Amino acid sequence: MSDPSSPLSIEAALGLGASRIDSDTARLDTELLLCHLLDKPRSYLFTWPDKELTVAQRDEFLVLLERRVAGEPVAHLTGLRDFWTLTLEVSPDTLIPRGDTETLVEAALVLLPDGAFRVADLGTGTGAIALALASERPHWQVQACDRVEAAAELARRNQTRNAVPNVEILTGSWCEPLHGEFDMIVSNPPYIEADDPHLSQGDVRYEPLSALVAAESGLADIRLIADQCRTRLKSGGWLLLEHGYNQAEAVERLLVASGYDKIELIRDLAGQPRVTKARWPG
Ligand code: GLN
Repeated sequence: MSDPSSPLSIEAALGLGASRIDSDTARLDTELLLCHLLDKPRSYLFTWPDKELTVAQRDEFLVLLERRVAGEPVAHLTGLRDFWTLTLEVSPDTLIPRGDTETLVEAALVLLPDGAFRVADLGTGTGAIALALASERPHWQVQACDRVEAAAELARRNQTRNAVPNVEILTGSWCEPLHGEFDMIVSNPPYIEADDPHLSQGDVRYEPLSALVAAESGLADIRLIADQCRTRLKSGGWLLLEHGYNQAEAVERLLVASGYDKIELIRDLAGQPRVTKARWPG
């Protein structure tokens, strides 16, 4: 490792991060930390590789780098994560929005055009899904809820930060705080099994278990949501749920048993089962 008191150029900082962070995304992680620290876009790093960090910047970089090396998610170190076209504040109170979830956003946008549609996002966390949908469909009336008050407050800050007016953010569990009936309800609920080894690796170690883990092999919350939405969806309304790649058949079975029809599986960009869409016949 370089002498911590010697000057550090941008290029050297990138090299140091890439060699120290044990992650597939080590170089990107370092770029994001430097952009945050310097308050510059990524292009700046490639335009000025020889620029030396100030002493204060270097010291802060070395602290952030050690925290990243110890496993903390980049999004917790920068406090921000890009999702869809938005930049979202993140905190340890919620899941960090993932690229996979853009599959759900895309599927929802395909289903309904802009217009006076009523849409709900259950367990909104940072507000990622609700804010992405509302920003693309300014005439939709979106309600988003989270039972964790700190998450609902975070989602409200993200609403202000991204200037998306057509979302109402409520506090409460699943459908309980919603008012009225909906043309579409979407959710990325907890769906991981409590003993899944994935939970001891990477960013998930720093995320709330309540946002990740569900009973009944990860299906308990999906079951609850499917049941509650039967009285919240208009006749012909759509339910879209994110789930694990190996849960597609179980989710389909429980949706059929709950009386939904036109069930369709949607895969993510990696080709993995990711979202199931179903219609409430009413
Ligand atoms: N897809 C996330 C993961 O595997 C989990 C998201 C969730 O449980 N809703 O890390």
